Amino acid sequence: MKIAKNVSRLGTEAVYNIFAQTKELAKQGKDILDLSLGQSDFKSPKHVVDAAIKALKEGHHGYTLPNGTIECREAVSRKIKNLYNANIEPKRIVIMPGGKPTMHYAISFFGELGAEIIYPNPGFPIYESMINYTGAKAVPYNLMEKNDNSINVEKVLSLINAKTRLLILCNPHNPTGSFTEKSEIDKLAKGLLNFPNVTILSDEIYSRLIFDEKEMPTLLNYPNLYDRLIVLDGWSKTYAMTGWRLGWGVWPESLIDHVFRFCVNSHSCVNTAAQYAAIAALDGPEDHLNSMRKEFDIRRKLIFEGLNSLKGVKCNLPGGSFFIFPDVKNTGMNGEEFFEKCLHEAGVATIPGTAFGKFAVHNVRLNFATSRENISKAIEKIDKILN
Ligand code: PLP
Repeated sequence: MKIAKNVSRLGTEAVYNIFAQTKELAKQGKDILDLSLGQSDFKSPKHVVDAAIKALKEGHHGYTLPNGTIECREAVSRKIKNLYNANIEPKRIVIMPGGKPTMHYAISFFGELGAEIIYPNPGFPIYESMINYTGAKAVPYNLMEKNDNSINVEKVLSLINAKTRLLILCNPHNPTGSFTEKSEIDKLAKGLLNFPNVTILSDEIYSRLIFDEKEMPTLLNYPNLYDRLIVLDGWSKTYAMTGWRLGWGVWPESLIDHVFRFCVNSHSCVNTAAQYAAIAALDGPEDHLNSMRKEFDIRRKLIFEGLNSLKGVKCNLPGGSFFIFPDVKNTGMNGEEFFEKCLHEAGVATIPGTAFGKFAVHNVRLNFATSRENISKAIEKIDKILN
């Protein structure tokens, strides 16, 4: 069988292999604490689940427009207005089966042989995977250079050249949990005015999971970039809805027709009942999100203190997301060795930093969207294998 070359260049997410490994170990009777997965342990809000059930019972079983129902796109537009006071017309919004397809499409639109795409490293693995798939050159910016792992604006701007087509940003950031402040995003947005041929993909999937009362410095607040700005967001992380497969993208008007065609050529439309649930999530009360964020805040401090108390381990307090990214260099192990030892000797599943990029050799990622009890137990178990 001869398959296309670009398909063999596709990468993957290590988390799925680790997931299979932890399941296998659990089947063998091993007690595994899984801090590897990128999702909340909260259930989706009840009113959201009820809205989907109601939609199904009322017979909303058919196709919708490929870019999403107008009601769902209007709900996203309303939410953006309420949250950020930004005016985004529903025609620029596309409802997607998750946040991921927005990055898949955006990278497909701009990547090809001879083009360059700048992306965060470490970063969500699909950025690099998709860039390689398209044949474009993947140009990383190293987030390990600054102590707080935030975006180094001067460095990012210095990587742009005549071949650069797309710049990918992710804030708050997976896997480091870092948060880049508005003052830096202001500088970046200003600097980008000097590069009118570069499109920006801003991955804001953790936009509502920010701590210490800070506000999201969304790229949607820079209208002078709108003609080349793609914003990726969605329901997965904010409303604990990862398995619903629901996301949205805000696109420049000039790209909407292309996005529409990609939708038609791949999934036709997003699950209809899920779009009703999506509206309920956006328009409904936010108690669920507020209590989840409050709980995550307690857990992030718990895991931060726990990890820093371990011999040879040090980490930053995450500013957003539900990930923490300790440096384990002083244990004498690199991230991959630490990951192996944790999984097989302590029964704690993490992810080695290199699963997110070559610069994170000495790190592992842990998810703190799990119970306080699990966090404390995980720290105790890791402590035992380090002593
Ligand atoms: N972007 C980042 C940074 C993520 O961490 C994830 C999921 O883990 C996604 C996008 C994709 O989100 P979704 O599950 O909605 O496709």
